[in-house]
Order: sequence, then structure tokens, then C-alpha cells
Amino acid sequence: MNSKQIRSQFIEFFQSKKHQFVSSAPIVVKNDPSLMFTNAGMNQFKDFFLGNEVSDHPRITNSQKCLRVSGKHNDLEEVGVDTYHHTMFEMLGNWSFGDYFKKEAIAWAWELLTEVYKLPVDRMYVTVFGGDSEDGLEADKEAFSFWEDWVPRERILFGSKKDNFWEMGETGPCGPCSEIHIDMRSPEEIAQVPGKDLVNADHPQVIEIWNLVFIQFNRFSDGRLNELPSSHVDTGMGLERLVRVIQNKTSNYDTDLFAPFIEKVEQVSGYQYGQSEKIDIAFRVIVDHIRAISFTIADGQLPSNNKAGYVIRRILRRAVRYGYTFLDLKVPFLHLLVPVLAEKFGTFFPEVKSQQEFIAKVIQEEELAFLRTLDKGLKNLESIQESLEASNEHVIPGAVAFELYDTYGFPLDLTSLIAREKGLIVDEKGFQEAMRAQKERSRAAAQLETGDWVIVYEEESEGFIGYDSLHTKARILKYRKI
Ligand code: ATP
Ligand code: MG
Ligand code: MG
Ligand code: MG
Repeated sequence: MNSKQIRSQFIEFFQSKKHQFVSSAPIVVKNDPSLMFTNAGMNQFKDFFLGNEVSDHPRITNSQKCLRVSGKHNDLEEVGVDTYHHTMFEMLGNWSFGDYFKKEAIAWAWELLTEVYKLPVDRMYVTVFGGDSEDGLEADKEAFSFWEDWVPRERILFGSKKDNFWEMGETGPCGPCSEIHIDMRSPEEIAQVPGKDLVNADHPQVIEIWNLVFIQFNRFSDGRLNELPSSHVDTGMGLERLVRVIQNKTSNYDTDLFAPFIEKVEQVSGYQYGQSEKIDIAFRVIVDHIRAISFTIADGQLPSNNKAGYVIRRILRRAVRYGYTFLDLKVPFLHLLVPVLAEKFGTFFPEVKSQQEFIAKVIQEEELAFLRTLDKGLKNLESIQESLEASNEHVIPGAVAFELYDTYGFPLDLTSLIAREKGLIVDEKGFQEAMRAQKERSRAAAQLETGDWVIVYEEESEGFIGYDSLHTKARILKYRKI
């Protein structure tokens, strides 16, 4: 079964249970100060859970584009190093707004996994909230008893508040959740360590695939919990992980979702995937990041110097640097993956197909701009490393990291990443201090200016401004003749 069929089967299954299909919301969030990017399927339904709005459909299903690179959910450091956390991924979901609850959600999840997808029962574990004395919450016995109808007792585990209790924020709707995990290890490995000991333990072959959240409480600002007048179901399953399990692979990157991208990178770099861990990480970072970058641009967020735009620029530069350092890709290459993406995802997400040329152009410009200074910046870092080693130091001073940022366009996390590879660390506090001092200086300088031009977007003129034509234009736009 290929990924397209797997996605469709999920949606069709829930449609057959009277769920309305809705399209994915944009990955870029424009109207919520607490969130830059959609990081879960439920984001677009937040107002239904909060009771601010009533859904036209009590049951909904979809596949949501998600990005987990900032805020509460930030998986960026894991991406490429492991084989099952992505920056951008699709979250398949089914929802009940005050309609069905635990019994149906559990029965249908199990039916879909075991009867439609035919996943092996003897490899799966389910977790149930085990209670929390601080909150005066009991274990979720209800969910436990519904699971018992389907799953052998020894495969049902009780979990902590951290893994099995979901909260939207400090206050608001919340509730216990049940997760489904799958053990993909070999029989020999399983004989040595039982799977139940590895659930939620970051084992690359014992992974979480689905989270079923039962929203039944409301938390007040003083910490108290009340039962909500009606209860809701919010589930999320990562498509990439599901496809990997169904296609019986040991890595998400070995599925048909990523194969054409890997092939393309092999073709443009001349390197082979699967030869060495360092090179493989670079491959995975690139084929992961191109999705995050392209989907975000398609939804209207261009790379820039602040907020969401800067997050995307950082991801793009991270991918360029991995290609440059480990795959000898010294000329723009990321943009060549955009046609592959349009081909792979264009049917389900038409926005990446219809804007294919624009996305590729933006990426290519960004690559060019960064490549112009990348080499010099890397050489600079090497000499910094040498001088630190000579004096037996291992901390890159904040001011030096700031110079790399200011002059060569190295985001702090990129410098930190390279530093880590070299066995060094960055004085991040010192970096922030240097950044603050520079802002002070430019503010003071702006006040002294008496020329013909005033800065109209001061915020945007802070920090690094690239050297390419796009940026030069942006810089000019920031000044207006008086
Ligand atoms: P994990 O513990 O593996 O980090 P999670 O508990 O943070 O996952 P949830 O917030 O419960 O994940 O999201 C629901 C589902 O989305 C997960 O069960 C998983 O299948 C998928 N998922 C979560 N984060 C990622 C990611 N970074 N990349 C790919 N899939 C993910
Ligand atoms: Mg997580
Ligand atoms: Mg988890
Ligand atoms: Mg989870």
C-alpha cells in the first residue's frame, strides 16, 4: 500500500463512520499571537473546544500539515538524527465535538489499525492515563475498560501525566489521553527486552503512532479542574510513521513518502544514501527540511529576518549547510527538489503544485544569498576552533557567535549545531547580550539621523540583512524619503 492509499483509507474509514472531511488549515498561523505554525490537527478547531463556536459537523476527519520547530513542540534538534521526528509532517485525525466519546474512539482506532491496515496486535501497546495525586485525578478506568474489549490486558499500560494528560495551555480544555505504540524490533531483540519497557523511552523502533485525546475537563487559572458540559475527542496520528509501519520499514525515510527526494539528492550530489551515518543524517535533514520550507512558502510565509519568516530561513540555512558540508553541494540544490515535491503532494495539497515555480525561485534566491557567505563563515569558525583549542578552551564567546550571525548570516542554532559537531559549545547568553547591545546602538544612531531618509520599519532593519537582490530591495523599501 502506498502513502496515497494509506492517507485515503484513513479518511474514507472515518467518512464511513459519518465524519465530514475538511481540508488542512494553512501551516502558517496568522491570527493567533500564541502560535506561529500549526503544530497539531486540533489547532483549527480550538474555538469548538473552547465553546466559542459550534461546529457545523459534530464529527470531522482530515490530514493536517503540521510544523514542530518552535514553542511547546520543537523537534528540530531530533530531525535527521533520528528517523521518526520531522519538522513538517501530516497529522491524520478524527474529531468528535460533543458527539461520540471514548468507547467509539477506541473501538474505531483499533478497527482501523488491525482490520484495515492489518497491523499485528502482538506488536502493539496502548497507554492509559494512570492518575495524578496532585491534581486529585484518578486513573482513566473508563478508557482502560474499553481497551480491554479489544486488547490483551498485558498490552495496556498506565502512563504519567506527562505522556497521558493533554492540556491546551495553562487554562482551558484538557483531559486524559490514550496512545498507541508499536514495537518494530526483531524477535531476538524483543526476547532480550520486553517492548512494554521501551514505550515512551525514545527507542527508534518502539514508536508512538497515534494519540487519542479525551477532552472532558476545563482548568481554571487557580488550577482547579471542572468537568466540561460536553466531552470531545481529538486524535492525531503521524502519516509518515503509519506509512513506515505499514510498509514495514525501520525508518520513515525508507517509505515512498521520502524515496523520490532521496533519489534526487543522490542524483545531484553523487553520494549514496545508506553508506555512512554522517552522510545519511545530511540526506535526512535535506529531504525533511525541503517539505517544511516549501509548504510554508506555499502558505504565504516567505523567509525573512523576523518571527515566522526567520524560523523558515533558519531551517533553509540548516539544510544548505548540511548539503555543503557533508555532500559537497556548493551550488544551490534545494530548489531542485521542489518539482519532486509538487509531483508527490500536488494532488492532495494543490497549493504546492500551483505555486511550484514561485516556491523554487524563492528557495533558489535564499540559497544563493547564504552560499555567498557560508564558505567564509565556516572558515572563520575553523580558525576560531583552532585558537580555542590552542588555549584549551571549548566555549565560543557570545560576541564571536554574534559576529557570525551579523556578518555571515549564521543563525545561532546553526553555529551551535556546528559547534557541537566540533565538540564546542556557544555562550548563548553572551550572544543575546551582543544582540541587545547592537540593537541599542542602532536605536541611538537612528535618533541622531538628520538626513533625508527616515526608517519606517525599524524592527525589520534589525539583525542580519543578506546580500542578495531580494534583501537589498527589502532594505531600500524600509526607507522613505521625507
Ligand atoms: P513523540 O512522543 O514521538 O514526540 P508526541 O507525543 O509529541 O510524539 P503528539 O503530540 O501526541 O506527539 O502527536 C500525535 C502524533 O503525531 C504522534 O503520535 C505521532 O504519530 C505524530 N508526531 C508527533 N510529532 C511528530 C514529528 N515531529 N514528526 C512526525 N510525526 C510526529
Ligand atoms: Mg513530541
Ligand atoms: Mg509522545
Ligand atoms: Mg503523544
